[in-house]
Amino acid sequence: MKDCIFCKIINKDIPASIIYEDQEYLAFKDINPIDKVHILIIPKIHIENLIECDETHQMMLGKMLLLGSKLANKLGLKGYRTMINSGVEGGQEVFHIHFHVYGGSKTLAKI
Ligand code: 5GP
Ligand code: ZN
Repeated sequence: MKDCIFCKIINKDIPASIIYEDQEYLAFKDINPIDKVHILIIPKIHIENLIECDETHQMMLGKMLLLGSKLANKLGLKGYRTMINSGVEGGQEVFHIHFHVYGGSKTLAKI
């Protein structure tokens, strides 16, 4: 989608530190990490957020969660946090659905 920063990353119109890519998903490092490791996983189709999802997105969402687990393992995380912010009131800043996976520090403070 035009004017979507994550679509621009998918299309390689703007750079990102990409750690994984397949036909359906892209994963890259968050530009402003909140932990030692902080990646974002996005589907290549433009969907705003979880609020816009329905039953037709079940497979896409499930695969995204499992990809997060796989990549966390690949990045050496024995445990990690996950987050999907949805809507302005949910703290969402980029309106292309994305799955945060982060960890690596020992602190267990809630963010
Ligand atoms: P949200 O608050 O929407 O869940 O999170 C958006 C995330 O995207 C933030 O953690 C922010 O640091 C990250 N982000 C925003 N713009 C860019 C960008 O251009 N490149 C990368 N790699 N991350 C971005
Ligand atoms: Zn997009």
